[in-house]
Amino acid sequence: MQALKEARNMGILEPQERLRALTNYSSSVEIDPSVPPKRYYRSGLEMVRMANVYLDEGSYENAYVLYMKFMTLFLEKIRKHPDYASVPATDKSINQAKLREVLPKAEKLKVYLLEQFTKEYNRYLAEVKQREKHEQERQRREAEKQERLKQAAIASEWTDSKGKIAVPTPDLDDIYYPDPNAPSAPLEDVGIPDDLTSEPSEATSKIPSIDRGTKPSTTTSTSSSSSLVKPGLRTVVTPSKVMSHFLTLSQKNTFNNIETCGILAGKLEKNHLIITHVILPKQKGTPDSCTTMNEEEIFDYQDQHNLITIGWIHTHPTQTAFLSSVDLHTHCPYQLLMPEAIAIVCAPKYEETGFFILTPNYGLQYIANCKKSGFHPHPTDPPLFMRMARVDDGENERHFQCKSLKQNKRGPHSSDLNNLTANRKKSLTVEYRRACCTCRSFIWSQ
Ligand SMILES: [Zn+2]
Ligand SMILES: [Zn+2]
Repeated sequence: MQALKEARNMGILEPQERLRALTNYSSSVEIDPSVPPKRYYRSGLEMVRMANVYLDEGSYENAYVLYMKFMTLFLEKIRKHPDYASVPATDKSINQAKLREVLPKAEKLKVYLLEQFTKEYNRYLAEVKQREKHEQERQRREAEKQERLKQAAIASEWTDSKGKIAVPTPDLDDIYYPDPNAPSAPLEDVGIPDDLTSEPSEATSKIPSIDRGTKPSTTTSTSSSSSLVKPGLRTVVTPSKVMSHFLTLSQKNTFNNIETCGILAGKLEKNHLIITHVILPKQKGTPDSCTTMNEEEIFDYQDQHNLITIGWIHTHPTQTAFLSSVDLHTHCPYQLLMPEAIAIVCAPKYEETGFFILTPNYGLQYIANCKKSGFHPHPTDPPLFMRMARVDDGENERHFQCKSLKQNKRGPHSSDLNNLTANRKKSLTVEYRRACCTCRSFIWSQ
C-alpha cells in the first residue's frame, strides 16, 4: 500500500494509464491544409516503412506510436483535408491495404506493451517495498547502536576509573551489505534511458525485452516520450559524398547558370535518419529556381528501394548558400511531413554548403500559413530558418549512392523495372538508360 502511494506521489503511471497516454500522444497528429493530400499519402507509406524498422529493431514504443499515427491520419484526419476529394482511387486503395496490414500489428503491440508496462510497474513497486524494508532495518540498527553507545559510555566511566583506556571498536552493523537480490543500480539513477532503440537486454530471449530499467514512465510528456518520434530528435546523417556527387552531377547546369535540385532519401537505422541516395528527378531550372517534374518516378524509385524522404538539395550557381523565399515554401511540406527534413544548399561559386531547417517553433508554421507565391519578402525577425551542423558517423560514406543507377551500365536494377507498372515501364526504361550510359545525362537542363 505504501509502495502504491509512493508511486502515485512520484507521478508514476499505472500500466493502463501509461498506455493510454502513449495512445493519446500518437493520436495528436494534425493535417495542414497547405500540404496536398497526395503528399500525405506518400508520407503515410514512409511512416509505415519507418514503423517497420522500429519494430524490427525492437523499438516497440516508437513502432506503436507511428502505426497509431498512421491510423489516426488515414482513418480520421485526412478526410477533413479540403482537397480530400482529389486523391486518386489508386492511392486510396494502396492506403487501404496498408491500413489492413498495420491494424493487427498495432493491436499486437498494444497487448505486448501493456504486459511490459505491467511488469515494469510491478518491479518498481517491489523495489520500493525493498527500499522501505532496508530503511526500517537501518533505523533498527541505528537505534541499537545508540543503545550500545550509551551502555559503552557507562562502562567506560567504570574502566577509566581503574586507569584503563576505553578504545572504540568498529561496529560491524554499521557496514551495509547490499542485498544480492536487490537491483544493482541505485534506484534514483534508474530511469528510462533515452535510447529506446537499444539492443534487447536478454540476448537469449526471442522477443526482445523492452525493459529499460526499473522505474516505469511517469507521463509520456516527460521521460518516456523523450525518446519517441518527436520533432528534431532524430539525427540526420549526411555523408560528404551527398554533396560531392551532387555537385559533379550538376556541374553542367551550374556552368550554364541553372539551378539543379535533387531529393535526399535514405533509411532509418537505430533512430538515425541516414541519407543513402540523392535522386535527381526530371526537372526545369532557372538561375534562381528549380522545379521537379514527374514526381511519380521519384516515388516509384523510392518504393522499389524502400527509401524514406529526408529532404532535398539544390544548387545556387551564382549566389551564396541560404534559403530564398521560394526555397522556404518548397521546404515547408518536407518538414511538416518529416520534422527532421533538411534542405541542403550548395553554392559552388563560394565553395559553401548550408544545411537548413525552418525554425520548428516559428518558421515552420509561419511559412505554412503564408499564402504568397513566387519571390516575396518575409520578415526576418524572429528567424524563419536556421543552420544545422552536418552529422556524419564516417561509416556511411561507402554506402552512399548518388542514384544507384550509376553502378548499372544497362539501366536501373532489373528488379526495379519488373516491379514497375506497365504504363510507366517504357518511359522509365528510356530515361534510366540515358542516365546510366553517362551519369551526367541524368540532369535535365533546358
Ligand atoms: Zn535556393
Ligand atoms: Zn511566403
